Amino acid sequence: MSHINTKCIQSGYNPGNGEARALPIYQSTTFKYDSVDLLGDLFDLKASGHFYTRLSNPTNEAVEIKIAELEGGVGAMVTASGQSATLISITNIAGAGDHIICASAVYGGTFNLLDVTLRKLGIDTTFVDPEISEEELNSLIRPNTKLIFGETLTNPSLVVLDIEKFAKVAHNNAIPLIIDNTFPTPILCRPFEFGADIVIHSTSKYLDGHAVVLGGVVVDSGNFDWAKSGKFPGLTTPDPSYHGVVYTESFGNQAYICKARVQLMRDLGTQMSPNTAFILNMNIETLHIRMERHCENALKVAQHLANHPKIAWINYPGLEGDKYYSLAKKYLPKGCAGVMAYGVKGGKEASKKFMEALKMASLEIHVADIRTCCLHPATTTHRQLNDQQLVECGVTPDLIRMSIGLEHVDDIIADIDQALETV
Ligand SMILES: *Cc1c(COP(=O)(O)O)cnc(C)c1O
Repeated sequence: MSHINTKCIQSGYNPGNGEARALPIYQSTTFKYDSVDLLGDLFDLKASGHFYTRLSNPTNEAVEIKIAELEGGVGAMVTASGQSATLISITNIAGAGDHIICASAVYGGTFNLLDVTLRKLGIDTTFVDPEISEEELNSLIRPNTKLIFGETLTNPSLVVLDIEKFAKVAHNNAIPLIIDNTFPTPILCRPFEFGADIVIHSTSKYLDGHAVVLGGVVVDSGNFDWAKSGKFPGLTTPDPSYHGVVYTESFGNQAYICKARVQLMRDLGTQMSPNTAFILNMNIETLHIRMERHCENALKVAQHLANHPKIAWINYPGLEGDKYYSLAKKYLPKGCAGVMAYGVKGGKEASKKFMEALKMASLEIHVADIRTCCLHPATTTHRQLNDQQLVECGVTPDLIRMSIGLEHVDDIIADIDQALETV
């Protein structure tokens, strides 16, 4: 199984003789045991097995193994949403009094989580321009800086992050790089190959791809040496909430993801339901085919819009001449997914009028769906941000975020053209 297309279909679940061919849904909160001592050992993490679905479940585990294999990691943990994946990925290694760095062009929900909620919990974030130089980034690292966070292909501004640059500065300072790889999915980019240490996803986007289930996942590359770094006592000294277990000693290169599960998922309880895991797994089975077509359709639409007299500007890193074209060639050689951002000539009002005139493409708070859809971030997903924050996130008042679906591309273009006629 060396090909990622095969892993989308085959990884994670291997039925034995006479067992269900498709992944079963273990719709059970709990699991039965015969031995009191074995159950005790499970609690002590001395034996492995499922005992309560808040911590693990066989259906969830199958999807976790599949996603870890797709990303090339050593372990993964699914969560209730992308937001909870981000929260756990950070708080697993940073706490009150710590500092983190985040590339400023990130998803609006990530920006709020870091800028407001994590500050209330005592974690201070410095937001940096993704174009920042290595020297400047390096100068912002403090003794208490615990990680750098960034997004491969940003929602909605479509900045392609120079992952290697951020990884280099992180590693020179003995801290990990966490990458939100939601838009590319492992089909288009595998951040571990460029030095990222932890990857998170909102599985609510392309991994589900059908706009039916919310979810998230944290994936551990197994590459970061927590003990050598010396900056992460939570992983390298006894955990009093788990009978003094030392994660790096008991779990080796899976220390990070094991701690996330047995400590944070135990305490925070943001688990994915097994029903959701089943649907997510089924939809990942076609991920490789869907991504190929999303990329193909989006490039054709972007090329059409780039030459359209009523379009003021367009960002799609797959377009020759786009600011991020060369970074996209490096990090996203197979394509840039289906999301693009553009403005209609005439500014915010013209962009709004255009969106309301679309007949097939729907106006909705979502992206990365098989159905073409669009949204106006400045009045919706990014509404809580002030003008300065909007600029930092790369969101202009006229920005239309459009997610190109899997309909026939001629129908998508025809719909856009008729709506542009009305402006
Ligand atoms: C949607 C999204 C999130 C948040 O995910 P939810 O599943 O909605 O909680 C995080 N990062 C990116 C890039 C996203 O697009």
